[in-house]
Amino acid sequence: MTSTGPMFSKVALIGIGLIGSSLAYAMRRAELAAHIAGYAPHAETRSKAQSLGFADSLHGELAPCVKDAELVVLAAPVGAFAEIAQAIAPHLKPGAIVTDVGSVKMGVVRDVGPHMPEGVHFIPGHPIAGTEQSGPEAGFAELFDGRWCILTPPVGANAQAVERLSDFWRRCGSEVEVMDAKHHDLVLAITSHVPHLIAYNIVGTAADLETVTQSEVIKYSAGGFRDFTRIAASDPTMWRDVFLNNREAVLEMLGRFNEDLSALARAIRWGDGEALFNLFTRTRDIRRSVIQAGQDTAAPNFGRPKKPGKS
Ligand code: NAP
Repeated sequence: MTSTGPMFSKVALIGIGLIGSSLAYAMRRAELAAHIAGYAPHAETRSKAQSLGFADSLHGELAPCVKDAELVVLAAPVGAFAEIAQAIAPHLKPGAIVTDVGSVKMGVVRDVGPHMPEGVHFIPGHPIAGTEQSGPEAGFAELFDGRWCILTPPVGANAQAVERLSDFWRRCGSEVEVMDAKHHDLVLAITSHVPHLIAYNIVGTAADLETVTQSEVIKYSAGGFRDFTRIAASDPTMWRDVFLNNREAVLEMLGRFNEDLSALARAIRWGDGEALFNLFTRTRDIRRSVIQAGQDTAAPNFGRPKKPGKS
């Protein structure tokens, strides 16, 4: 690769939690930005980020953070995007790319799109990478390595800007896929959103049981339940916003899930071992395919991401 300097003279990260800070580390690793500016509303978050040193400047105001930025990445909870978009719009550099990392896409198109000025390229995105941790201390450079990043450019989006953003994500370690925002929301509803809802629900049900004490639930948490508690520890604000902003697709997938669950309950009630065995065989194949596709490992830690240097 010829050295032509960083891709962007300035990148602004609106939100410097798990995803924002990881992006900063990944950008540093590949030397993608001459200046990384980070915004967080709370002084405590900014001071943590300051000591971690992944940003060149930290801001408690949006305008100076996005000023002169060639790339602006919204990395806050999606429920805050409309307000952020409205506030940054007058301060965006003409020709800048504005993207996001939000876990839903139709809601982002609805909330951010109308505020974007003429001449600014708005290209929503979603890295399919994360952990149940949050905050600036949770970030690490390898988070996006080998993971998909889905871009959902609106019809008529500038092709050069889409290619530049794709290149950016590839240099952050991701593989890039372009799809329609509505399709993204449907796919993610079943692969991510409904599984999180199930985890929140089962841990909540166990916690509410009156005949089994909470200490027993914790003490005897065998593999299955323990893995659900990991997912159910994910950030409450982020996930509240995901469900409120992907309502239709989640309800559609939840309807199908409920039908299949009823069929399983019936199989158990009628002692239909063949139905149970057949399903469990099919699902085991899915797990193998996920590992073969490089999206998880068969390691005993179930492929949970580890921070570098930590065991
Ligand atoms: P996080 O670790 O909780 O960080 C959120 C960041 O947003 C913090 O810096 C926070 O600052 C800031 N923030 C909170 N409210 C804000 C507001 N009203 N305006 C501006 N900034 C605000 O969250 P995350 O896991 O990085 O998630 C960020 C985004 O990435 C979300 O949209 C989420 O859907 C998406 N995403 C998450 C994952 C995942 O696994 N976690 C994966 C893919 C995509 P303060 O600390 O100062 O409040």
